[in-house]
Amino acid sequence: MRTSARLAGQIVSPAARVVSPVRGLTMLGWHRIGDAPDGLTTSFDDLRRHLDAIEGWGATVLPLLEAVRRRADGTLPSRSVVLTFDDGYASVVEKAWPELRERGLPATLYAVSGYLEAGRRFPWDHEHAPDADLTRLVTASELQDAAADGLDIGSHTVTHRWLPGLRPADAAEEVHRSRVELEDLLQQPVLSFSYPMGGVTPEIRAEAERAGYLAAVTTERGRNGRRQDPLTLRRAFAFDRADDFQRQLDGAYTWMRVVERTRRHRVPRW
Ligand SMILES: [Zn+2]
Repeated sequence: MRTSARLAGQIVSPAARVVSPVRGLTMLGWHRIGDAPDGLTTSFDDLRRHLDAIEGWGATVLPLLEAVRRRADGTLPSRSVVLTFDDGYASVVEKAWPELRERGLPATLYAVSGYLEAGRRFPWDHEHAPDADLTRLVTASELQDAAADGLDIGSHTVTHRWLPGLRPADAAEEVHRSRVELEDLLQQPVLSFSYPMGGVTPEIRAEAERAGYLAAVTTERGRNGRRQDPLTLRRAFAFDRADDFQRQLDGAYTWMRVVERTRRHRVPRW
């Protein structure tokens, strides 16, 4: 896969990137900011490099719901990008958000409504020290402050379980109740959703629609054209390697989707 992706990236010259219009919506994701080689963590320096690359690409970074609306009505600017952070790690509010705000870049944080009490950690983070800053999750009051400060908040369920593996009623509860809990907390509409680990079926997608979400993001890589369903939007998580990141912006993975689909056997734990 890497070999073909590299070839796809090379056919786009830097000059072509600067002048050519790019249709569709590129959605990017990160999890947390820190120093750990664990696949979930992006160093602050790498985040800044990613943001430099996005700005250098000539992106128009839009708030998520505005991007989804403008994609639907055909007024999406060329090179539109949306920035998202999954899971609700405190490092996003403490480190990423101030940097984004300074650059004037909107972003969405997908929070897990059942994990907003101080001291809670995700099961996959238990191997770290219990007080590790890296694994600390944002608390309810920190989330309120961040929302008041302009960070967009979306739902990432109540307990971050793999929804296709749950009984339908339990999956529905995760989708609906997280929205209600976050709206109660923030006193504002919560209209976008992120499927944990990208786990979505037609039934779960329908549940997201019934719950009233206007947009929902997956972990399927590729750009979102006008016909892409707003409740199964494609999104790529940022890589450490600068050339891989540039390739995401260039849309190489849109063409790689067929290959990826045949290769996807492993389910990431986040
Ligand atoms: Zn997640």
